[in-house]
Amino acid sequence: MRSSFTPVSGSVPPASADAGRAPRGAPRALVIGSGFGGLAAAIRLSCRGWNVQVLEKLDAPGGRAYVWKQDGFSFDAGPTIITVPHLLEELWTLCGRKLADDVELRAMEPFYRIRFDDGSWFDYSADPEHMRAEVARFDPDDVAGYENFLKEAALCYQLGFEKLGAKTFDTLGDLIAAAPDLARMRGWRSIYDMVCSHMRNEKLRVAMSFHPLLIGGNPLSVTCVYSLINTLERRFGVHWAMGGTGALIRGMVKLLAERGVAVRCNAEVKRIRVENGRATGVELADGSVEPADIVISNADTAWTYKHLIAPEHRRHWSDARIERGRYSMSLFVWYFGTRRRYEDVPHHMMVLGPRYEGLLTDIFKRHHLAEDFSLYLHRPSATDPSVAPPGHDAFYALSPVPHLDSGTDWAATAEAYRRAIEARLEATVLPGLRDEVVCSRVTTPIDFRDRLLSYKGAAFGLEPLLLQSAWFRPHNRSEDIAGLFMVGASTHPGAGVPGVLMSAKALEKVIPNVQQYA
Ligand SMILES: Cc1cc2nc3c(=O)[nH]c(=O)nc-3n(C[C@H](O)[C@H](O)[C@H](O)COP(=O)(O)OP(=O)(O)OC[C@H]3O[C@@H](n4cnc5c(N)ncnc54)[C@H](O)[C@@H]3O)c2cc1C
Repeated sequence: MRSSFTPVSGSVPPASADAGRAPRGAPRALVIGSGFGGLAAAIRLSCRGWNVQVLEKLDAPGGRAYVWKQDGFSFDAGPTIITVPHLLEELWTLCGRKLADDVELRAMEPFYRIRFDDGSWFDYSADPEHMRAEVARFDPDDVAGYENFLKEAALCYQLGFEKLGAKTFDTLGDLIAAAPDLARMRGWRSIYDMVCSHMRNEKLRVAMSFHPLLIGGNPLSVTCVYSLINTLERRFGVHWAMGGTGALIRGMVKLLAERGVAVRCNAEVKRIRVENGRATGVELADGSVEPADIVISNADTAWTYKHLIAPEHRRHWSDARIERGRYSMSLFVWYFGTRRRYEDVPHHMMVLGPRYEGLLTDIFKRHHLAEDFSLYLHRPSATDPSVAPPGHDAFYALSPVPHLDSGTDWAATAEAYRRAIEARLEATVLPGLRDEVVCSRVTTPIDFRDRLLSYKGAAFGLEPLLLQSAWFRPHNRSEDIAGLFMVGASTHPGAGVPGVLMSAKALEKVIPNVQQYA
């Protein structure tokens, strides 16, 4: 079994085409980080006439959507479920192009299978008839409640996504204006409480409430507004990018290259320069300085404020306020390839353990690494032969775990935890797994902290609680420093590919016009 992985691509130089390039003398914007949010921000700013450069710490773009390759296997490190494709299409349209020219999105049906601890399963689908039949199979008495849940989720979608999703929460007035909508959604309830008010069957309650985990939220405490994910998936589908999610990142980098915008990799920012209360550029790890008219950080907001900006420039985002924040869970991810194919296993599968509420409380409240776990099992080779050698399967198994406040010694624990996951998968859905694994790699909360520079090793930034959402989340326009902006998972509306693409849309509304710099 080999374990040395190599990244897919290095720095991407700008293409030679002049079309779309910023005019000579255009003001300069530096984007720190090349996650989905950073790349989307760079595209939008470039289209508004800014002279943009992206600075990325890692050796390839993508952030959480980095790609690992080894022995003919290709592993998307992070996002695999692509929803709301029109948010991506918008970026291609802005550049006068079509998404389909660069990336094929393939709709998944069913979306995913949820396997419960007793071996029963629920196939989650876009087809309303199929969904009603699945609900009835578990509990016919819950069908009416399910329909009522869908109505509430649709309202949350309409208000929370369509109306407030890409809104800029820049002032208290923006929050006050949104208050009636939050009240209509009764956003103070948790999604789990909302689901429980409609359905009695415990398995159905899990199947309808687990979605916030996909964006780092605890279903027991996250606002019910996030039931919008349920509507959003059914309305726009769940998609797979052929070639892997990395194909979308490569496509966005190509859009930038065609506009003359470079994504400079191996370029870690160590400090954001602030003079007279205004961001004036950045200092890199190699000691060089890059001047700029504005700086946009796609890095974790807590990390940006705490580690990249000297405390004397931060009245709002003091160390104490950052410490008081509640951060999302972290993840343990095992990427592996097998020398055989498991044809019975669908592309996306939740392999749940025996506990739901208890496990969530261990992860989010007690910050305790439990012995049991619930897994998301990803098998991209079910759809896409390009990700594994012929006759082989590529997988990852993702386990939500507490962030680093757990005090877990991951260096000592990781291999035992991986073996426990392997044993669990072998006993449930991947028989004989141990003898079939031909490549393997793990990511732990330490990697989220040290590699992706995420505060407390949180995998999704700030937890999406009501009092950490919208105006309460770090603003796109820095509360502390003029000319400094934020984009990505820890800003409004939050984590997930659709969320960070929308945060780039919200950002665009507060970025100054280039004419101001003429
Ligand atoms: C394992 C996993 C699975 C997921 N699955 C899904 C899914 O299926 N669907 C979905 O929609 N979402 C999913 N998500 C969530 C989604 O991937 C993220 O919310 C989203 O990609 C975050 O994008 P971002 O723009 O905030 O930036 P990130 O991807 O966090 O990128 C930030 C970038 O900034 C760089 N950086 C940080 N500090 C510096 C510095 N000082 N100097 C230079 N560069 C710096 C980092 O290296 C990184 O490249 C998943 C996340 C994980 C971790």
